[in-house]
Amino acid sequence: MNYKLLAERLLPGEYPTPEDYEAKYPPRDLPKGAEVTRLAPSPTGFIHLGNLFSAITDERIAHRSGGIVYLRIEDTDLKRKVDGAVEAVIGALKYFDVKFDEGAEIGGNETYAPWYQRQRAEIYRAFVKKLIAEGRAYPCFCTEDDLAALREEQTKNKEITGYYGKYAKCRNLSEEEIYKNLDAGKPFVIRLRSLGNPENKIKFHDEIKGDVTVTENDQDVVILKSDGIPTYHFAHAIDDHFMRTTIVIRGEDWLASLPIHIELFAALGFPLPRYGHHCSLMKQDGETRRKLSKRKDPELSLEFYRKEGYFPRAVKVYMLTLLNSNFEEWYLKHPDADLAEFPFKAEKMSKSGALFDLDKLNDVSKNELARLGEEEMFAFLKDWAEEFGTDTQKKYFADAEKMKRTLALCMGVGGKKRRKDFTTASQAMEFIRYFFERPAAREQYRTDAASKNAILRAFLARYRYEDDAQAWFAKVKEIAAENGFAAEMRDYKANPEAYKGSVADVAEVLRIATTGQANTPDLYTIMQILGEEETRARLQCAMENS
Ligand code: GLU
Repeated sequence: MNYKLLAERLLPGEYPTPEDYEAKYPPRDLPKGAEVTRLAPSPTGFIHLGNLFSAITDERIAHRSGGIVYLRIEDTDLKRKVDGAVEAVIGALKYFDVKFDEGAEIGGNETYAPWYQRQRAEIYRAFVKKLIAEGRAYPCFCTEDDLAALREEQTKNKEITGYYGKYAKCRNLSEEEIYKNLDAGKPFVIRLRSLGNPENKIKFHDEIKGDVTVTENDQDVVILKSDGIPTYHFAHAIDDHFMRTTIVIRGEDWLASLPIHIELFAALGFPLPRYGHHCSLMKQDGETRRKLSKRKDPELSLEFYRKEGYFPRAVKVYMLTLLNSNFEEWYLKHPDADLAEFPFKAEKMSKSGALFDLDKLNDVSKNELARLGEEEMFAFLKDWAEEFGTDTQKKYFADAEKMKRTLALCMGVGGKKRRKDFTTASQAMEFIRYFFERPAAREQYRTDAASKNAILRAFLARYRYEDDAQAWFAKVKEIAAENGFAAEMRDYKANPEAYKGSVADVAEVLRIATTGQANTPDLYTIMQILGEEETRARLQCAMENS
């Protein structure tokens, strides 16, 4: 068979030679040992924890070695482009402090552009043509129905499914048959003519999993689809070679395809990059562990963490805990260090599944939030509110002084005693809501309505904003005594029958009236933060609404 003529018929025209491409995309000018890594997502618009997992790994490996990490968009499978998907990837990862040195929508070293696979069609076709001309690839005219029938037959015979060996019908088509099909205008794909034998094992060193043994590939995989767009297998081989990736970090799902990639790189005459396959993120679901699922687990999406308002460092710290077995110990010793100082190592990554546990992340978050200073906390909540908060929440920050006093009281921000029960910005904002919005509803008072109103009336008559905490509390006690409540707790305990309740019930009336809630931080300070007018208005309103 004249493969050269066939190649010309299938992909007519002049294409640059491999040497041209080698010259166009020269090895990168980086110091010795510098690694080049990449994140290569499909622009589906869904960015998930797995992407962050890979991206942190890529970024750490590259930057710790003085190398670079780039963003390549693998859009070959996409029926239609999702608008804004690339910006969404960049934005989501930037939030977690993962920045790319070059790539789609980022720019950088233009030598290796473009970073969208759909814009690299010529180079893929050039190499497909070369493989056809060498007899290493051939057109396959099998229809979907043919392939389905083949799969069925193989399944029935309990054989490995796929297009290989004796099942690779189009592999041995005669020249005449091929041209007849082409003349008839039959659609075709291009397949690799595999030379592998599954009896042969290949020893392979994975940067994360260590030594693994894989079976040689014998599948005649599709490399160019009928629309002239390459498959992942082929495109990644071309791109990782010419973008000069030194380590391919990707999910362990791809380990099964590694034999295909080993054969493809060899067929193309490219040295194989190093690979590191990281484990999948698992979730404990009752008795079983399963992969996090897009459908069942909202926490898989990175959007979830931003919407909820997780502090980005907390998520990063937790991710690093999952990624590197020695991170937790290091972080205990260096709680204030820049996370970039951690000596991240691919070989310290978990070889089997990483168990993602939202409760653990929440614990990390509580600790991280409890470390934020006044300005940092203010900025964090404000930024969150700007992006995800209600219009009312955005206004909370207009009076910065009031916000800071509120944060100091509710969370201990700026003080020594920090509360450690805040996980997210959304939760904190909900907690401080009553400082900025009048209670729409109030919790149930323990006290009956008549006594409640009497207490509120008495308090309104006597309340003076200028009072200090002691004077304020003395008045609450007076009001208690005048209304049949024990002013001292011990009196009440000694003789509960003699009173309607205690000073605690009186304080509760004031508390619920002011905030809507029975449980709050120090009420005197709350009233000080609210101001006299607002406090009076709320008490008045509570008196009217029994
Ligand atoms: N586009 C592939 C994915 O999103 C990339 C895998 C790789 O990193 O090579 O899964």
